[in-house]
Amino acid sequence: MSNEIKSIHEFDFNLICEYFSSLKRQGPGSPEVTIKALSFIDNLTNKSRIADIGCGTGDQTMVLAQHAPGRITGIDLFPSFVNLFNTNARKLNLQDRIKGIVGSMDNLPFQNEELDLIWSEGAIYNIGFERGLNEWRKFLKTGGYVAVSEVSWFTKERPSEIDEYWMDAYPEIDTIPNKIVHMQNAGYIPVATFILPEICWTEHFYAPQVSAQEVFLKEHAGNKAAEEFIANQRHETQLYYKYKEYYGYVFYIGKKI
Ligand code: SAH
Repeated sequence: MSNEIKSIHEFDFNLICEYFSSLKRQGPGSPEVTIKALSFIDNLTNKSRIADIGCGTGDQTMVLAQHAPGRITGIDLFPSFVNLFNTNARKLNLQDRIKGIVGSMDNLPFQNEELDLIWSEGAIYNIGFERGLNEWRKFLKTGGYVAVSEVSWFTKERPSEIDEYWMDAYPEIDTIPNKIVHMQNAGYIPVATFILPEICWTEHFYAPQVSAQEVFLKEHAGNKAAEEFIANQRHETQLYYKYKEYYGYVFYIGKKI
């Protein structure tokens, strides 16, 4: 494997934000998967308080609001994503129930035991799966739920190229049984676990990036950092197609005990 491949964390935030702002989703997922994960959660009412952490521009938050009662706070580190999030909520007339705020998942602005549900699609890796589950737990009421999607290994062993790629990008990647143990150790009943279908990557995440990449390269013609960033995105996509039987996103749903 080439050592020139960089982790996304090494790129300029502004470039990353601009690129992902042009996309509907900032991570793999789909409306069907959000609804499926929600089907395991049975405690929600109009009074429920929900947080969507690392919400991005909020495609999944809008689906959540359309299929669950209660009020949702979306939190993301990047103001440009939060602005788009709030615009999207207004467009769907959901602004009374959904509010996007700028904040960090390692310093959440909630009271202890305030929340009925913590949602987070494709984002908990920013703090780490174990740390996120442990630190966020105090914000949940007893009997409240956490629902997070997280990249996971499907097999105990895998080719070294993909193993090395993920060990560099996210060393906390692990097998599904090990992730479930981490969830249990953090004080949750592991209520449900399911693998996201491949179309969550291919159709909902990678396909829209093909034209977005062309537009982005035109806008940043001659900009080496932008070219390198797109080359990395393409490399990541190729690796997914090559090794998708070894890894993918998994939804983990837990209930605080
Ligand atoms: N949930 C969205 C976005 C996933 S991408 C979706 O499924 O499409 C991961 C998101 O986490 C990005 O929007 C990124 O801005 C956000 N993020 C990264 N670090 C963060 C932090 N420390 N606190 C809050 N959000 C963060």
